[in-house]
Amino acid sequence: MAAYRVPHPDKPHIAHHARRQTLAARIVGFVLLWILVAIMALVADRAIPGQHLPWKKLTLVDPVGAATKVKAARAGADPAACRAILAAGGIDYAETPASSNNWCVVQDALQIKSGMAPLKPADAPMTCKEALAVALWERQVVQAAAFAEFDQAVIGIDHYGSYSCRRIYGQTEGPVSEHALANALDVAGFRLADGTSVSVLNDWNDPGPKGNFLHRVRDGACKVFLTVLSPDYNAEHANHFHLDMGGWPKCS
Ligand SMILES: [Zn+2]
Repeated sequence: MAAYRVPHPDKPHIAHHARRQTLAARIVGFVLLWILVAIMALVADRAIPGQHLPWKKLTLVDPVGAATKVKAARAGADPAACRAILAAGGIDYAETPASSNNWCVVQDALQIKSGMAPLKPADAPMTCKEALAVALWERQVVQAAAFAEFDQAVIGIDHYGSYSCRRIYGQTEGPVSEHALANALDVAGFRLADGTSVSVLNDWNDPGPKGNFLHRVRDGACKVFLTVLSPDYNAEHANHFHLDMGGWPKCS
């Protein structure tokens, strides 16, 4: 016959006490975790350079970093802030009047007048975020690569156009090109201070400094622009780099 067990008089009290202790431990753990997160954020904010932190302001002075692309893309949402970054970086620009023609829409666009190696031809209206990406790329990627490979500056950037009212590859149907929104630039080549030309078409496969330079500026463009298409992508891009700030992340 099983013996009758008398319930331990202390048990309910112990269980209740244990529950309270567990709850207290959880609250303390939660608070400690958030204190740790706050300390880490504070340390990161001071120790990590601004170009790697998405919450720090974008500037044309900082080198390209882990957060540069995100910040440049975000700059398009705030026309005034985007222009302030250009102005603070010494880029002079003129506003391009808004226009629309069916699916071709130009708004929040401007033309860079000075403050970087001139675009040739000069007539190149771009959305502010595209202009910002071009200016950043020119200053932090193109000039750095030119000094590294040729020990001199780039004094001109040849291009095939920014705004163009067309669909991708000029087809009659299909997706609208970022060029139809003035959100892209097709870069064909570079002019160096000593008069040397570097062309995407002629020098992409050059084994020397010209080829190195073109690969460096393409790779660097991928850290600034959302979409970068080079001769590596397809034959349509054998003679230019397509650089845009649209919504299709691609680096090729
Ligand atoms: Zn293009």
